[in-house]
Amino acid sequence: MRVKVVAFDVDGTLYPNSAVYVRALPFLLRNLSAVRAFARVRKDIRKIRPVGDFRRTQAELFAARRGISPEAAEMLIESVFYRRWDAITRKARLFPHARETLARLKGAGFRLAALSDFPLSAKLEAWGIGGLWDYRRSCEDIGYLKPNPEPFRDLAGFFAAPPGEILYVGNNYAYDIVGAKNQGLMAAHVTRHAPPASRADFSFSDFRRLGDWLTEE
Ligand SMILES: [Mg+2]
Repeated sequence: MRVKVVAFDVDGTLYPNSAVYVRALPFLLRNLSAVRAFARVRKDIRKIRPVGDFRRTQAELFAARRGISPEAAEMLIESVFYRRWDAITRKARLFPHARETLARLKGAGFRLAALSDFPLSAKLEAWGIGGLWDYRRSCEDIGYLKPNPEPFRDLAGFFAAPPGEILYVGNNYAYDIVGAKNQGLMAAHVTRHAPPASRADFSFSDFRRLGDWLTEE
């Protein structure tokens, strides 16, 4: 195994999305049309080049959809989608064996990275895994969301590693797996149903299998 760096997506990868559905339901219902608009904005912004100031562009796209000013949009995004949503995900329970697998990989000498489309804030600390990471960054700070090349290039640049020595682990096939493979990284897909002819080098739903695959010769 030539992998030296194991990089993880966060939401839906370290914890199952189902872990937040129940707690998120009142939030989603209360903010339904704003949630829909924000989801569209996050989709649209992936296709814009150059993005320029990420937060500003995001606010402008949201403002146009909602008929409000970019300033009001920026404040609303901050309070609803960053702070409140962050508080919900912070309480999520990680996938079974995720924590022990991260510690096992660290102990086996892999360098660990967390690379998320959303701000990481203090989530990793809240989950008790704050001390494991050599790299932690939000794609927003890099300026482009996945599957754009910039986040994956940022990883390779930080570790000064050939992309082929980096494994990206994620739950979203189009963003995480295709995005990583297109930049020459290896990719592991967290899923119960791998797509036919998946481009992932490895697919798993039990974190222990990921640990086994990475540590066996
Ligand atoms: Mg994800």
